[in-house]
Amino acid sequence: MNPACPFCKIISGELPASIVYKDELVTAFRDIHPVAPTHILVVPNKHIQSVSQVETEDEHILGRLFSVARKVAEIDQITAGGYRAIVNTGPHSGQTVFHLHMHVIGGQHLKFPMG
Ligand code: AMP
Ligand code: ZN
Repeated sequence: MNPACPFCKIISGELPASIVYKDELVTAFRDIHPVAPTHILVVPNKHIQSVSQVETEDEHILGRLFSVARKVAEIDQITAGGYRAIVNTGPHSGQTVFHLHMHVIGGQHLKFPMG
C-alpha cells in the first residue's frame, strides 16, 4: 500500500470505483475515462510501480493479471469480438498512474498500430 497512490486507495476502498472483479491478488475496475465501450483496468493488489519494478517473486501475480483479463472480457462479453490488453511502462508509453495496470479495451474495432 502506497498512501499517495490512487489505485492503492481504490483497492483499499478509500476511493470509489466501479469494481468488476476482486480477489486476493488483483482488482479490476472500470477506467474513469473509457476509450471504448469496455475499458477495464486490472491491477495487482500489491503496489508495483510498473513492469520495470516487477520481481521474480511477483510472477504469480502477473499470471493472475492475464487470467482476470480473460475473466473480465467474458463478463463484458467481448471475447468473440476480441480486445486489447495493454500495459504502459514509463514516460515514452504515456504511463500516468505508477501502479502497474493492464488496460482491457474492447467492444468496438480498435485502431492499430498505436506507435
Ligand atoms: P496509464 O496512462 O496507462 O497510466 O493509464 C492510467 C489510466 O487510469 C487512465 O486510462 C485513467 O483514465 C485511469 N484512471 C486514473 N484515475 C482513475 C480512477 N480514480 N478510477 C479509474 N480509472 C482511473
Ligand atoms: Zn498503488
